[in-house]
Amino acid sequence: MLKGGCHCGAIRYEVEGQPVYHALCHCTDCRRQTGAPVVSWALFPTDKLTVSGTPVVYASSENARRHFCGACGSSLFYTNAVVFPGLTDICSATLDEPDALALGIHVQTAERIGWMKDAHLLPQFERYPPQE
Ligand SMILES: [Zn+2]
Ligand SMILES: [Zn+2]
Repeated sequence: MLKGGCHCGAIRYEVEGQPVYHALCHCTDCRRQTGAPVVSWALFPTDKLTVSGTPVVYASSENARRHFCGACGSSLFYTNAVVFPGLTDICSATLDEPDALALGIHVQTAERIGWMKDAHLLPQFERYPPQE
């Protein structure tokens, strides 16, 4: 059983089983709605997901519904009755233990920000770079 929730704790969820897939999405809609350059999504059967609290639902396109915490703004779920009937995408970065699910693929790279392709090659600091 995996558990997760929003930043403020108003919404918590549990999900069981394994995802259909676990992907980093580079699409423009994910980017705009979350403010992040990529979003990691784990796609589960909706009947395996139990949610406590009531997310706000935003229609980001005709069939896409994005569910987020109205108090703190955390993105939590994505549903689309046409593309993913019976399934719910979970923002896997909101899991209490995100490393519990191995990441599998990148999707929507046609819309990826150019600098994201090689972002993993840039200098890395455990906190912040040293100040001069
Ligand atoms: Zn919240
Ligand atoms: Zn996306």
